[in-house]
Amino acid sequence: MSDGLRESLMAVYERMLSRYGPQGWWPGGPGFEMMVGAVLTQAASWANVESALANLRSAGALTPRAIRAIPQDELARLVHPSGYYNAKARKLKALAEYIGERFDDDLDAMAHEDVDTLRNDLLGVYGIGEETADDILLYAMGKPSFVVDAYTRRLFWRLGLAPAKGSYAGYRAPFMQHLPKDPRLFGEYHALVVRHGKEVCKKEPVCEGCCLLEVCPTGQDRTGGSASLASSDSEEVKPV
Ligand code: SF4
Repeated sequence: MSDGLRESLMAVYERMLSRYGPQGWWPGGPGFEMMVGAVLTQAASWANVESALANLRSAGALTPRAIRAIPQDELARLVHPSGYYNAKARKLKALAEYIGERFDDDLDAMAHEDVDTLRNDLLGVYGIGEETADDILLYAMGKPSFVVDAYTRRLFWRLGLAPAKGSYAGYRAPFMQHLPKDPRLFGEYHALVVRHGKEVCKKEPVCEGCCLLEVCPTGQDRTGGSASLASSDSEEVKPV
C-alpha cells in the first residue's frame, strides 16, 4: 500500500470536509428510491430527478414490483422530467426485473450480497454502467464502492493525481486500493467532490481562496505559487 497516496487523498478529503462540512447524502439504509435516483440522474440535474421521483411516488411506483407492473409508456411519462425518458423507463424495468428475479424484491438480502458479486451483476443489467452501479452500491446498499464522475476526473487531474490510464477503473483504483473500505468515508468524499466541483473547481476554476490551493499544482500555476501535496509513489497515478 502506498502511504503517500493515502495521505494525499486523505489530505484532500480533510480540507474539503473542513471547508464545507458533512454533506448529508447518507440515506440510512437500503433504498429502492436511491437506486431509481441513480438511474434517473444519468445526464440529468438532481432537481429534475427529484421531479421525476415525485411523480413516481405519487403514482405509488417506487417499488420493484410496481415498476415491473406499470406499462412502459406510462413509466416513461412519469420519469419524463429527468430526460431520455423512454430509455430510462426501460432501464428501470430492467433493474426491477433483476431485483425480483435475483432477490425476490428483498433489498436487505441484496444488501447482504458480496460487493464484487453485486457490482458484476449490476453491470450486466441493461443501462447500468460503472458510475450508476457504484452509486447504487454506495448510496442505496451502503457498500464501500467509490463513485467516479466528471467532477472527480476534473479535480484529480488538476490536483496532479490523475491515473496513467484515464478509464473509469483507473480513476477509481487509487480510492479503492489506498483508502479504508469505509462506505461513510466514500459517500462523504464523493459528495464533497461534487460540492467542490460545482462551486469552486468548475470548468473555469476559482482558485483564489480554494481550500485545496496549497496542495494543487494547477491552482499554484494559475496563481503563481507552488503546491505542497506529496506526489504519489504509486505506479497507477502520475503527477500531471
Ligand atoms: S486550486 Fe483551482 S484547480 Fe485546484 S482544486 Fe482549487 S479550484 Fe480546482
